[in-house]
Amino acid sequence: MTDRNAIDAHGLHKRFGDLQVLKSVDLSVRSGEVVVIMGPSGSGKTTLLRCLNLLERPDAGTVTVRGRTVDCSARGSGRGRARLIRDIRIRTAMVFQQYNLFPHMTVLQNVVEGPLSVRRLPRPYAVEVGERLLERVGLADKRDEYPSRLSGGQKQRVAIARALAMDPEVVLLDEPTSSLDPELRGEVLQVLRDLAARGTTMVIVTHEIAFAREVADRVLFMDSGYILEEQPPRTFFTDPASTRVRSFLRLMT
Ligand code: ADP
Repeated sequence: MTDRNAIDAHGLHKRFGDLQVLKSVDLSVRSGEVVVIMGPSGSGKTTLLRCLNLLERPDAGTVTVRGRTVDCSARGSGRGRARLIRDIRIRTAMVFQQYNLFPHMTVLQNVVEGPLSVRRLPRPYAVEVGERLLERVGLADKRDEYPSRLSGGQKQRVAIARALAMDPEVVLLDEPTSSLDPELRGEVLQVLRDLAARGTTMVIVTHEIAFAREVADRVLFMDSGYILEEQPPRTFFTDPASTRVRSFLRLMT
């Protein structure tokens, strides 16, 4: 690990029953880097993101964020360990395919809820930051709306603002555009492009090839619980090393 890494994961294993879903996955992400994860359905991409944020508990391996490490094989359950897991979860904000907004809260309340209840920021400061983030995702005028009144693209942009409000080391995005109609995908991808240009560290599971080519610093390809290939986007999309990636890309385009 170096000081410049936002997150380091080593030797992550995860099984569900008899199914070994992650098989010793290593992933380090530098601060400011955008990593895209691609791969067939069922290859373990979502599980990897959820393990990075400890929403899913790996069976073995370590996750290090800001120099603090959780050893997932250790089965301890003390208060120190709970605090450590909580800290890592706060610093690795997730954005889900289905947005997961709180339906009974307004847009602004959704964005400031974490900063108020988890980071314990003073309300005026949390509101100021929340309004600035809503402006950044183009939704300042929707601050008092409820999620049910928003389009899918708008909901996802609120979810992104909500993740950023936690001031995370890394934002983990699980297929952020795959629930959206094509015309709404563009507005979410544009927000992600802007974040990348500002140096936001992101790990994004996506099938959006044009976007990945443009924004990713690195593309990882997962297959059957392994990272099979890892390349800069230009190489990944034009001259991948493995025939597996070649045939995947042929099916995608
Ligand atoms: P991907 O995101 O690449 O489609 P997932 O990480 O969602 O893959 O799933 C990998 C495998 O793990 C799949 O076979 C899936 O059915 C299985 N799986 C994922 N989550 C669970 C769970 N909570 N319980 C049992 N099996 C699961």
